[in-house]
Amino acid sequence: MSIDHKNNQKTIVQVAIDVPINKLFDYFWDASELGQFPERGRLVVVPFGKKDVVGIVINVSEQSAYELDKLKKVISIAPTNSLSEDLISMGEFASTYYQRSIGEVLVSSIPVAWRKSDKWATLEKPKRQSKQKAHEDAVELRAIQLNNEQKEIVETLSAASSEKKFQTYLLQGITGSGKTLTYLNWLARVLVDPTDQVLIMVPEINLTPQLEQSVREAFPEKTLAVLHSGLTERTRADAWMAANTGKAQIILGTRMSIMASIPNLKAIVVDEEHDLSYKQQEGVRYSARDLAIWRAKKNEIIVLLVSATPSLESWHAAVEGKYKRLTLSERGSKEASQPIIEILDLKEERRAGKKINNGISDSLTDAINATLNKGLQTLIFINRRGYSPVLSCEACGWLSDCTKCSAHMVLHKLPRGGSNLCCHHCGLIKYIPRSCPDCGNSDLLPIGQGTQKIEQYLAEVFSNAKILRIDADSTRTKGSAEELFGAVHDGQVDIVVGTQMITKGHDYQSVGLVGVIDADASLFSQDYRASERLFAQLMQVAGRAGRSGRSVQSKVIIQTRYPTAAPYKYLKNNDVDGFLVETCEERKVVGLPPFSYQALIHAEHRTLGEAIGMLKDAAAVVKNQDKHGYSWPETVSMSDVVPKAMVRIAGKERAQVLIESPTRQDLQVALEIMQLVLIDQNTKRKGVGWYIERDPVQI
Ligand code: ADP
Ligand code: ZN
Ligand code: ZN
Repeated sequence: MSIDHKNNQKTIVQVAIDVPINKLFDYFWDASELGQFPERGRLVVVPFGKKDVVGIVINVSEQSAYELDKLKKVISIAPTNSLSEDLISMGEFASTYYQRSIGEVLVSSIPVAWRKSDKWATLEKPKRQSKQKAHEDAVELRAIQLNNEQKEIVETLSAASSEKKFQTYLLQGITGSGKTLTYLNWLARVLVDPTDQVLIMVPEINLTPQLEQSVREAFPEKTLAVLHSGLTERTRADAWMAANTGKAQIILGTRMSIMASIPNLKAIVVDEEHDLSYKQQEGVRYSARDLAIWRAKKNEIIVLLVSATPSLESWHAAVEGKYKRLTLSERGSKEASQPIIEILDLKEERRAGKKINNGISDSLTDAINATLNKGLQTLIFINRRGYSPVLSCEACGWLSDCTKCSAHMVLHKLPRGGSNLCCHHCGLIKYIPRSCPDCGNSDLLPIGQGTQKIEQYLAEVFSNAKILRIDADSTRTKGSAEELFGAVHDGQVDIVVGTQMITKGHDYQSVGLVGVIDADASLFSQDYRASERLFAQLMQVAGRAGRSGRSVQSKVIIQTRYPTAAPYKYLKNNDVDGFLVETCEERKVVGLPPFSYQALIHAEHRTLGEAIGMLKDAAAVVKNQDKHGYSWPETVSMSDVVPKAMVRIAGKERAQVLIESPTRQDLQVALEIMQLVLIDQNTKRKGVGWYIERDPVQI
């Protein structure tokens, strides 16, 4: 039914709501009541079921497929501009591509405070931002003379952005080569009109304080909006609005910032583009890097991917000429130098009669000593928090396994003394048993080491050194990460023990030694991307050494039992491209991404049988497609249904099936079929949770 309601001054709007139903919902827009005409992108309150909810107007129309008498009215409009057109279009694309409703994509990405309409009145007037105090060591970007390589890149990018055409650039530069400095100089040239806006994305919050400072200094007269999950609701809501109204010219944030409304977007930078944190791992499992490229294309602007160790996907696209490649091959600061990388063969160490104590070899201990004597700092990287990864009974072989997950519970020392067992997957916490639950033996032994044990051991060996541990546990309270990193930068610390948190972007000035312990575990992962990740991580952490004149002749020592493994071999020669060429060849032979496109279908249930059963039934329907009237593309293959490498998490048993295709288009067709089949199968097995994940980064 359709009636022209112009006479009634009523129009119909189709609203996206954050529910897993793939459709828009129709409402009346009563302009005389609302005082405004309807517009795509408007944030509104509408009645939905028994509640009033916040949604986004996607279409304005004069017709509805529903009975007009039953349509309800839009209740109110948020006191801010409509969301930018490119964002809504990107949301529409992402909804199809990631197979989620547009409401799940767009509404759920709006800051919580803006999703509560009772807060709107207070949000209308943003709070005044307190002035950031300047960091003493902060780089004065304006004063730094770019070197020739850097200048050339700024010129190339500036020329490209003035053409107002879409292009993806990959800036590959060794750590410390001035990638940040280079792109900030380019962005300064992009921001011509006072209304121009740029987006800079970075992987994690702990990276942003120093960068935020650099950005503020590079653009003293511009307004900066910072977006990440560590902000208070109010601060985030204000930053989001500053981007949406165009008040902020620079938007700096983590992956969530790709979902910000930026009406006058002129350039995008994705720093550390290879970083896993760009992939959302729950809800709408989007890749912020991939969406950044989509959004740049939509806006006909330049997107710059930046990394010392590009993802194989981006690197391959650059080699193929789809992306344009820019390279920085030298450290920016003249005094800085590349560290010497030593792959320390632990088997060789033992043969030479050297000892390994608490996971640290004598040679590494000697190197720490030498570094302390030079008055320089040491970073010890171990990607395991806690004291010991497992507690065991020597008498009967009992291990501290989690009752809800297929994982060990980790022994943690508590800040106020004592210790407990904690599962890093489900969060379960238990007391340490007095004696073995199986045999009663009272001698339970911690096996292996985590950051806490290394910290304790180093404190015993180097009793005069100031030692600091940086991991998720020591930085749990707000502001503590900043404080700890501040202490490192200010030189109050001699030895830092930390997880991957310490490897990221920090521009440490006095690190003379980086020690890596226990990296081998990643070599044997089932995940084909594990070695790529290990390589990137090691390159990152190695890059923390020798960043200034204070830390010349710095050293990186990597302990391993497998010195000839590819990540170590190429790291030693600082050969990023060599590593990528070899990895790329391997992928090509077996047809893995970037030579194919993948999607994972996950299912989980209390019992593995149900999870597997649902996936198997779905697969059977697809295979019997003629009978069911589907036409699954011939090029698309489906693996067997298998239990996941980690079967149990938090009491749920998990299974998966992998779908592969030579093209994105065929994969899309297949996934749309799969979605329908799974919805249908799920009605038969109600308790099974499932989702489709496009372009998975962890398998
Ligand atoms: P990246 O992002 O590649 O790791 P940064 O942009 O953080 O590198 O720069 C690393 C360090 O080198 C910074 O302290 C920066 O100030 C310095 N630097 C970069 N380029 C130059 C230059 N042309 N002259 C002097 N110092 C530089
Ligand atoms: Zn026992
Ligand atoms: Zn658990």
